[in-house]
Amino acid sequence: IRRNAGEEVFHQAVREVLESLGRVVAKHPDYLDEALIERICEPERQIIFRVPWVDDTGQVRINRGFRVQFNSALGPYKGGVRLHPSVNVGIIKFLGFEQVFKNALTGLPIGGGKGGSDFNPRGRSNGEIMRFCQSFMTELSRHIGEYIDVPAGDIGVGGREIGYMFGQFKRLTNRYEAGVLTGKGLAYGGSRARKEATGYGATYFVERMLATKGQSFDGKRAVVSGSGNVAIYTMDKITSFGGRIVACSDSGGYVVDEGGIDVALVKEIKEVRRERISQYARLKGNGARYVEKGSIWDVPCDVAMPSATQNELTGKDAKTLVRNGVIAVGEGANMPTTPEGVRIFQEAGVLFAPGKAANAGGVATSALEMQQNASRDSWSFEQTETRLAAIMANIHDACAETADEYGAPGDYVLGANIAGFVRVAEAMRSLGVI
Ligand code: NDP
Repeated sequence: IRRNAGEEVFHQAVREVLESLGRVVAKHPDYLDEALIERICEPERQIIFRVPWVDDTGQVRINRGFRVQFNSALGPYKGGVRLHPSVNVGIIKFLGFEQVFKNALTGLPIGGGKGGSDFNPRGRSNGEIMRFCQSFMTELSRHIGEYIDVPAGDIGVGGREIGYMFGQFKRLTNRYEAGVLTGKGLAYGGSRARKEATGYGATYFVERMLATKGQSFDGKRAVVSGSGNVAIYTMDKITSFGGRIVACSDSGGYVVDEGGIDVALVKEIKEVRRERISQYARLKGNGARYVEKGSIWDVPCDVAMPSATQNELTGKDAKTLVRNGVIAVGEGANMPTTPEGVRIFQEAGVLFAPGKAANAGGVATSALEMQQNASRDSWSFEQTETRLAAIMANIHDACAETADEYGAPGDYVLGANIAGFVRVAEAMRSLGVI
């Protein structure tokens, strides 16, 4: 804690994993001898850099850029870039740490890393976004590569930003190295189904988790927080599975539409117009209402899918959801539920899918994008989605079986942490003390 002073969310993420590892250490005391747990908690490399850019009025602006290359035992570092004013080294380290275990769970050859900047894209013009992305990549380009570190999107980084970053990388290096970034557009090496993958994957995971209790999304009420990339495609898939989305949100408030959220309208507002979710109620009419501030978790539902940001679902929210009869929670975002919230769900017997397992479909499909780039190939949407569905089924089953093996049936948190940890620890052990 002293070495990582002030990095509260990083402490939270590490504590949550360590709490699961007692049973592993009891079985394999040798992990302690080799300091594997301490080594896994220490990033291999942290890069912090200045990002200067010029705004539309000619004013020079300075942001701070980060890339934390956490663990490369399983493959090149892999993980997204977040652009949000809250970004600091603690947030990037928590995300990088989670990413190591998540990537291990996919079974694919990818290590873990994460990056970002405290740049606030809100209200910035297209030109400003482009100049920021170019400046960010000017430094980042020295540290990444198809065999080194492969960034992707996260909060505030979608297809547009990845395009500007890839363009700058190509210009600086004079190399068409498609596999250096994922989440690219289809016109220049992107993978079909990547945009949809995190939300679709989370939905596949929860559908399989519900099936263990003889349930499914069909006919269920669902609440999905956020209205960004993960939230939109979660809503899309749940709707196609027969569920009804009754609320979604952004950082300003939430909308409730008892008739079922019109996902095409949310896409239009968020992806095309780049406006606030409050517009939904105005454009839809028909009984949809907007609630400014407040908690979206006050809306009663059978399934809750927190898909916005960390610690957005508190203990108080968890109590409300349990009181309202929630049966399953699937984390689309990274660590959206506070530790108290997780405890309340688990004690109430609510099925709980932790983000590092449930949202792994995004990075898994990024690894499929890398495979397509390496073989100069481009797969169909169906082929890619079929691979994604199979990967999510495997992750679900690995978590469930590991929880059984370690004497905690139904505890997906413990199952995900142990299954991810063992895979990374075994690889690290084979590579010697590095
Ligand atoms: P987007 O930027 O596309 O969307 C984020 C959404 O969450 C927006 O609706 C945003 O609202 C809301 N949000 C962000 N910060 C806050 C906040 N502090 N308080 C309330 N709402 C907030 O990001 P993504 O959909 O890509 O990411 C969402 C989550 O999923 C993150 O935790 C991310 O790490 C995780 N994730 C993403 C993956 C991906 O493939 N994109 C893969 C795996 C995990 P507003 O517009 O008002 O800021």
